[in-house]
Amino acid sequence: MDLDATAVTTPVLEREIFSKRLLEWYDRYGRHDLPWQQDRTPYRVWVSEIMLQQTQVATVIPYFERFMARFPDVASLAGASQDEVLHLWTGLGYYARGRNLHKAAQVVMAEHEGRFPVESQEAMASLPGIGRSTAGAIIAQSTGQRAVILDGNVKRVLTRLQAVEGWPGRPAVERELWSLAEHFTPDQRVVDFTQAMMDLGATLCRRGQPDCDHCPFEDVCVARARGEQRRFPESKPKKATPVRTTRMLVLRDDEGRVLLEQRPSSGLWGGLWSLPQFDTDRDMALWLDQHAPAARRSEPQASFTHVFSHFRLEITPVPARVERLDSVAEGWRWYAPSSPDSVGLAAPVKKLLQALTPFTLSPPEGP
Ligand code: SF4
Repeated sequence: MDLDATAVTTPVLEREIFSKRLLEWYDRYGRHDLPWQQDRTPYRVWVSEIMLQQTQVATVIPYFERFMARFPDVASLAGASQDEVLHLWTGLGYYARGRNLHKAAQVVMAEHEGRFPVESQEAMASLPGIGRSTAGAIIAQSTGQRAVILDGNVKRVLTRLQAVEGWPGRPAVERELWSLAEHFTPDQRVVDFTQAMMDLGATLCRRGQPDCDHCPFEDVCVARARGEQRRFPESKPKKATPVRTTRMLVLRDDEGRVLLEQRPSSGLWGGLWSLPQFDTDRDMALWLDQHAPAARRSEPQASFTHVFSHFRLEITPVPARVERLDSVAEGWRWYAPSSPDSVGLAAPVKKLLQALTPFTLSPPEGP
């Protein structure tokens, strides 16, 4: 399957029905008295949105009020020192947010004549620390213009509602979620709609224990119907362990002995004895030409995998026969599996040697 291809999800509800249900719920149960819901200027909404990233509403409220008392508008924030801004941020964590807030205020003053560019989501999203969703929230909340948001809460609601498979950080999944968010966002009451989506995610469709019984979408939510609410949104996949490949030459002489090579004293299998290893067939062929030109190589055997903590090594044994070698260089030895020397062997090599069939000489050719 193409990892970047995600099937387009058919929305569970028409836009009008979705927003009607959501807004009815919001009118009864949503949050209407948060400090940033009064006097909704782009500046106040922006500061609140940045503070609310990764921080709970109850924690943000006193910070927001202190911040507004000291920096009532973008000009006062832009003119402050970074130290003073960060001082008021102390305790909120994620200090890059505070630094970016300060920088963005200076950009608004220097490049936008002190006005947030709320006519364009792209222009808003180009300000330091403001992503596409935050830009949408500021525009919708402060101007009432239709703008789409997709923050963590909204992602959780949408992935559950539609059972959207895949980690939302994957571009294809994210695109799918933006298109669902776009589908559901109405033209009317956008201020309330965006707040309602965020509230639904924060208060009902919670990460750990969603309160589906009180959700306005409980009858259409696909994750709930399947009893799989906790599976969505999917977590970030663990990084796949890298796989390296190697070919091991199992070169045996007429006595059935196997040629081993000592590994360098540091690094993988440092100082242990192993089979000669090669990255490519060509490297192996060159080595044989140089050291054992009379050797006859057989077909490679089935590969097997040896697992290290940080990677997996896929080993392909390649059997070969030689009557004898003119010289055995230092760091090489002939090893007889039937009467093994007491030497340290790399683990998969030991296994390979133990699995070698008892050596038999080929029958003489001809009658
Ligand atoms: S029914 Fe439950 S899982 Fe589905 S959107 Fe509502 S709260 Fe979330």
